[in-house]
Amino acid sequence: AEPRLVAVRATRISPRLTLLVLRDITERERVEEMRRDFVANTSHELKTPVGAVSLLAEAVESAADDPPQVRIFAARLQAEASRLALLTSRIMNLSRLQASDELPQRDVSIDEVVASALDAHAIQADSAGVEVVRGGSRGLYVRGDAQVLSEAVGNLVANAIAYSPRGSSVGVGVKAVEGVVEIAVTDRGIGIAEGEQDRVFERFYRADPARARRTGGSGLGLSIVKHAVQRHGGEVRLWSRPGRGSTFTIRLPESEAPAAEPVPKRGRK
Ligand code: ADP
Repeated sequence: AEPRLVAVRATRISPRLTLLVLRDITERERVEEMRRDFVANTSHELKTPVGAVSLLAEAVESAADDPPQVRIFAARLQAEASRLALLTSRIMNLSRLQASDELPQRDVSIDEVVASALDAHAIQADSAGVEVVRGGSRGLYVRGDAQVLSEAVGNLVANAIAYSPRGSSVGVGVKAVEGVVEIAVTDRGIGIAEGEQDRVFERFYRADPARARRTGGSGLGLSIVKHAVQRHGGEVRLWSRPGRGSTFTIRLPESEAPAAEPVPKRGRK
């Protein structure tokens, strides 16, 4: 295996000379380190909503004599609880994708993947006042897990809607170029600064914490997209300009359309 060197100690010897102690971490150690990081980040991220839920529960109790106030706290409690539910399910999906078990290898219809991703976010689009338009080719296939791919496309669609202004539209375009299926999700929203374009794929990274909190994000959506696509032998590309919008493109190896189910021959009765 390639040596993986990490600096374990840096000692400044002179203003122009620093002594680095490097260690070769093997693949196994690297995986273990990722796992430890993941558990640590996750516990940290769960603390905030869990804390909020328990504070709000106390607030409901102490406002017992004031029904309008109780309703306000109860609604916020509900909102925090559903954020917590979303966060937990994303953490589970991500850890499943990072585990080494094989994904199912089936013929996956991109038409179905896109349709189910759009269905899953139709209500979100409606209430955000954003129109989602599906365009491009039909009848393309890849190999893999339809559910994992739908979730990946769905996360891109959810972000495109969440970071777009009311009244704008989001495009989901599909095409095949030289054996690669491209699913491009384009918005005309706030965009992502150049220096943050790599970082947004990191677990729990949000370009602007205040903004992300407002839209109720988990910071895991893009990390799930990246892992899901990589597990299918593909990659995700990002083009974005602050104030102009973003295009996230999922690229997957194209596969042949599956042979049509043989039509059962029926004899005359
Ligand atoms: P979140 O749940 O916070 O949206 P993601 O992992 O999906 O987490 O995205 C990480 C960050 O990338 C977001 O917090 C946001 O700052 C930025 N981002 C993602 N998609 C878009 C987009 N379409 N337009 C602008 N910013 C985006």
